[in-house]
Amino acid sequence: MERVKMLINGEWVGDFNSEWIEVYNPSNGEKLTEIVNAEHEHIDLAVSAARAAFESKEWQDFKPYERGQLLMELANYIRENKEELAELECLDVGKPISQARNDIEAAARYFEFYAGAADKLMGDSIPIENGLLDVTVYEPMGVTAHIIPWNYPIQITARSVAAAIATGNAVIVKSAEDTPLTTNFLAKWFAESKLPKGIFQHVTGLGAKPGSYLVSHKDIDQITFTGSVNTGISVMQAAAANVTPVTLELGGKSPNIVFNDADLDKAATGVVNAIIQNAGQTCSAGSRLLVHDGVREPFLNKLVEKFARLTIGQGIDDPDIGPILNKRQYERILAYLEIGKKEGSILFGGSAANVENAEGGNYITPTIIDGLSPDSKLAQEEIFGPVLTIFTFHDIEEAIKLANGTDYGLVAGVWSQDIDTAHYTASRVRAGQVFINNYGAGGGIQMPFGGYKKSGIGREKGFEALRNYVQLKNIAVKY
Ligand code: NAP
Repeated sequence: MERVKMLINGEWVGDFNSEWIEVYNPSNGEKLTEIVNAEHEHIDLAVSAARAAFESKEWQDFKPYERGQLLMELANYIRENKEELAELECLDVGKPISQARNDIEAAARYFEFYAGAADKLMGDSIPIENGLLDVTVYEPMGVTAHIIPWNYPIQITARSVAAAIATGNAVIVKSAEDTPLTTNFLAKWFAESKLPKGIFQHVTGLGAKPGSYLVSHKDIDQITFTGSVNTGISVMQAAAANVTPVTLELGGKSPNIVFNDADLDKAATGVVNAIIQNAGQTCSAGSRLLVHDGVREPFLNKLVEKFARLTIGQGIDDPDIGPILNKRQYERILAYLEIGKKEGSILFGGSAANVENAEGGNYITPTIIDGLSPDSKLAQEEIFGPVLTIFTFHDIEEAIKLANGTDYGLVAGVWSQDIDTAHYTASRVRAGQVFINNYGAGGGIQMPFGGYKKSGIGREKGFEALRNYVQLKNIAVKY
């Protein structure tokens, strides 16, 4: 593949003097391409180009519905190139090709959804007194920075970029060093589009270099960061120096709570899917199972049967479980498995896996670990692999206490056929999304998504996300 260049101020940037970073296919370790490790000068150039584009008469004259029309063109472009994009995502992330196809459709849906929303965010008229017209209007923030993780590159780029452009902002995206390909594909559309150059820019490189420089830049008006808690904290600290607002979409340790009156077959399917999507490398992975002691044994038997049928392989062969992104993540998961063996008991898996003709890939068997203390490292920390930990409860209050017993609060699943049990539990669980008798509900572009506690600040997805990218101004007119 050709080298990935950055799109800055409408120009493709990256020459032989740039520092290049190699990018590999996680499925087999083959080199895919190289990206530029952006210099501070590149970021300065991108920020000033974004500022100029944002303030340009050309952009200010775009009507909201016209911004929407362009986003709809982008949604169509994504669908027209669906297969190529899915293959790029599959090569870059290692994820099973059918999951990559779902991600491409989701990306198209984000642009389509926010295309329609571009002219629908309306202010209020506030009654104060006769002779005073008081209204609120929404105005774009200005220059927005979007820091993207490696696990769902195109979806996460699409969800914040679409909302930011729909509301009239300029956008600078820093893709993850391991997964630049699909964002680069989108950049090609932007380079040819009718949007003023500088409204969308793509920069690449290490989080510790261009990433940290971008989020500490004093001319950025808003930051959307998606990634780990520790990096999110450093982004928030950097932003604090300039009082830049941040939206943080961070990690999770999400529970599936299975009550004794649940439909166990449906729940077992939901619990397995929740932990194996993208080999468990998903912020909203259902990584903890809380099961009622009355159904523990039959339910665990169902899970083990399902785990035994899961296939592991290269993303392009469309297995149930693809590779782990890189050696560092893989070794991190193996270290967790060693702790799991000492502190708990392995009900299934628990080791590295071999995949034929994929020597350079890093594979882990889907794993179920029982018998851990709820306070243990494995019960508390995000493992980010296909590893399910099991905890048993006796009554609803114990289930809620376990569900809320981590620093995270992203998603929860509740499985019960009793309406009172289901609603009461949903109301008490501290998580940004609660699913009753399902988990994930197909991605839910329209559903606000975000975390309680250390899972983040603010909401992405849905109409709600538009508010991340606007300022509210009150105007009072005396007459
Ligand atoms: P990460 O290591 O925190 O990196 C995320 C992004 O931040 C990457 O682009 C990274 O660059 C960049 N970065 C690293 N250090 C930085 C710094 N000091 N300043 C600015 N940017 C910096 O996370 P990850 O490993 O890519 O992603 C996995 C994590 O993301 C998990 O915790 C997962 O739960 C979370 N996540 C959350 C959501 C959500 O919507 N809540 C969605 C997906 C993932 P490099 O690529 O160079 O490291």
